[in-house]
This record gives sequence, structure tokens and C-alpha cells, in this order.
Amino acid sequence: AQVVNADFVKSSVRPDDCPRDGLPEFALVGRSNVGKSSLLNSLVRRKRLALTSKKPGKTQCINHFKVNDSWYLVDLPGYGYASAPQEARTNWDEFTRNYFLSRENLVSVFLLIDASIPAKKIDLDYASWLGQNKVPMTLVFTKCDKRKKKKNGGRRPEENVETFQSLIREYFGAAPPWIMTSSVTNQGRDEILLHMSQLRNY
Ligand code: GDP
Repeated sequence: AQVVNADFVKSSVRPDDCPRDGLPEFALVGRSNVGKSSLLNSLVRRKRLALTSKKPGKTQCINHFKVNDSWYLVDLPGYGYASAPQEARTNWDEFTRNYFLSRENLVSVFLLIDASIPAKKIDLDYASWLGQNKVPMTLVFTKCDKRKKKKNGGRRPEENVETFQSLIREYFGAAPPWIMTSSVTNQGRDEILLHMSQLRNY
């Protein structure tokens, strides 16, 4: 399940503009600053591929990257920007929700959760919306290499992950598949690619 090649294909401003070749795709989404661009770059082993998604004007788009000429990694707009005007925030939400509900070749959403901080309500709400709408999801915990000092009140990534999982289990009765990652050490990289290849072959 290795990435041989990866290319930016296009930025779409509406679900209707997305590629229509029907290839399977996996969408990455998470709070802004969760480490989404770093993870995308780590998955494709390119330092700057995801820069495309960071260009002004592209952060609010659905960005398609074609991998091995046969499937897509999709970078969705991050949520929870403190600085975005309320109106813009609502628009992105609706636009991303439409994508989740209408995109037939979407195999699974990879919801990124920052493991270096305690569970956030906005992430739990996002996961529960996906669950309620039966959108298949995988939880990807990011920044698992980050260790805060206990004496400063910091908690280990493993503890944050455990708390998040138990809150999710309360919501759903069961937890979705989950993977612990770090873009610094590349922890979880192969696991994500293997999981994606298994999901494609179902
Ligand atoms: P995005 O806004 O979700 O695309 O997040 P970025 O990929 O730009 O990362 C946000 C910040 O978190 C940057 O300062 C990154 O260097 C840092 N970061 C991202 N991934 C990791 C990780 O796995 N470990 C650590 N320690 N820092 C990370």
C-alpha cells in the first residue's frame, strides 16, 4: 500500500465541481491547526504537496489529489477557525456537509483529532454528526509524538485518545476504527495507507 505518485488535480468550490471519474476517495478533515497538511504531506512523502491547499483562496475549497492514478485523497476545509466571520463559517459547514451527503465515491472520512490536547466539544460534535448521518469514518489522532510535562498539568496523548474514545463510545455505543499518528515520526503512516487499501478492496 505504498504511494508511488501523487498529483494535485483540482480545487472545487462546490461538490458538483469535483472530479467525476468515480474513483474511490478518502477525505481528510479536522479543526484548523490539527496537522492536516502535515499528515497529507507525510502520506504522500512530499514536503509541499499540501501547500496547494494552504494557498489563499484554496483553504475553503475541496482539494483533490490523485494517488497512484487510481484513487483520491481529498483535503477538505478545516473547521473551527476562530478568526473566520460567522457567515463564512456557516457556508463552509454547509458546503462540506453537502459533500459528505452527496459524494457517492467517498469511501471514508478521516476525521483528524489532536491527541496532544484534551477532547474538544467541536470535534465530538463533528464525529457525532457524521455518525448520525451514517457517513463512514475513521478517527486519526495527530501529534502523538507531543509529550507535555506532567507537572505542568499536561496529559499524555494516550490519555487524551482514551478519553475521546470513551466519549465517542457513549455517543455511538461503539467506536469507529482509529489510528494514532505523528507527522514528525511518521507513526501511523503505513497503517493509514493499509487501512485505505483494505477499504478500497471491500
Ligand atoms: P493544518 O492547519 O491542520 O493543516 O495543520 P498543519 O499541518 O499546518 O500543522 C499545524 C501545526 O502543528 C504546525 O505548527 C505543525 O508543525 C504542527 N504539527 C503538525 N503535525 C504535527 C505532529 O505530528 N507532531 C507535532 N509535534 N507537531 C505537528
